[in-house]
Amino acid sequence: MVDWKKPPRLFIPGPVKVNDDVLKQLARPTLGHRGKEYAQLQKETVDMLKKLLYTEQNVFLSTSSASGIWEAAIRNCVDFDETVLATCCGAFSGKWAQVVESCGRKVEQLEVDWGKAITTKMVDEKLSTGKYAAVTIVYNETSTGLTNPVYEISKMMKEKYPDVLIFVDSVSAMVGLPLHFDDLGWDITFASVQKAFAIPPGFAVAAVSERAMEKSKNVKNKGYYFDFQQIAKKAEKNQTLSTPSIPHIMALHYQCKKLLEEGMENVWERHKKMGDFLRSWAKEKFDLFADEKFASNTLTAVKNTRGINVAQTIDAIQQKHNTIFGNGYGNLKEKSFRIAHMGDITIDDLKELVGWIEEEIE
Ligand SMILES: *Cc1c(COP(=O)(O)O)cnc(C)c1O
Repeated sequence: MVDWKKPPRLFIPGPVKVNDDVLKQLARPTLGHRGKEYAQLQKETVDMLKKLLYTEQNVFLSTSSASGIWEAAIRNCVDFDETVLATCCGAFSGKWAQVVESCGRKVEQLEVDWGKAITTKMVDEKLSTGKYAAVTIVYNETSTGLTNPVYEISKMMKEKYPDVLIFVDSVSAMVGLPLHFDDLGWDITFASVQKAFAIPPGFAVAAVSERAMEKSKNVKNKGYYFDFQQIAKKAEKNQTLSTPSIPHIMALHYQCKKLLEEGMENVWERHKKMGDFLRSWAKEKFDLFADEKFASNTLTAVKNTRGINVAQTIDAIQQKHNTIFGNGYGNLKEKSFRIAHMGDITIDDLKELVGWIEEEIE
């Protein structure tokens, strides 16, 4: 039997460590989801999220994980005769391309080797063919610890291809990395809450542009659960389409308030400092898996240059310290390992963890 009294300390790149004060929010008495108190909770949460994401457009709360929004983006905003350019640089961006196909839309992949970034030039070349109605991109590729240059790509798209929609998976980026939704000209971006929001899994947040809303009016067969038109109608009344996970919204409200008090510039700087710390350790002891110029500030994929037994090291640290970090993703198992540094993880937490890893390998 699992020993629930001793849950391991998490350094995997999601779910990440959740502080006790946040956990308590999930245990508050519930509200009725059509009542006044709930509407106030939703309104305040959405208003704070708009500030965090630098948007005056739509923010939706979704009782689903972020994978649901992969699908929502396509089913709402891409017609069946249109083609999506799916940029792929790792496991998550690759899965999104499959989701596009499974929704019955045409998709073409722009692929780079894992650990490399999607560049502005590559996207520009593809879009210059005029073939694509939308682009999908993952802001921070969690399988490789890589941050794509989304600001530069978005600027280019705004100038040269203003009619192409841009859908951005910010799952392991949102509130850890800069994100100015309106200025970037994005149409949809989203995240699960178990990454940098540092809340238990089971909920997601999405920003949706007015342009995406217009587009979704005329797209057919959107289904029910993720139909932006239906969701927006309820959102006007500060409600959701179906019964939401109210405990998650309570925790989200709590975390948003703390983030705004800290100030987003400071939050991003805090993540950058954790990234700098972990990268300098990784380079001293091993190497980085991702191209350093694009290495992520929310998690690091360490290249296993010493050929250590990663699974055994993770096990040993779990036995001794009740703490786990991540093996490499998929094919990168044993070739790399991953350490999250987002949300409520601190530099002191990281120092403790890398100390234990050193004890095991030296
Ligand atoms: C974790 C993650 C996902 C999947 O999130 P779920 O909550 O499992 O749906 C998608 N994209 C990226 C970049 C992620 O890190």
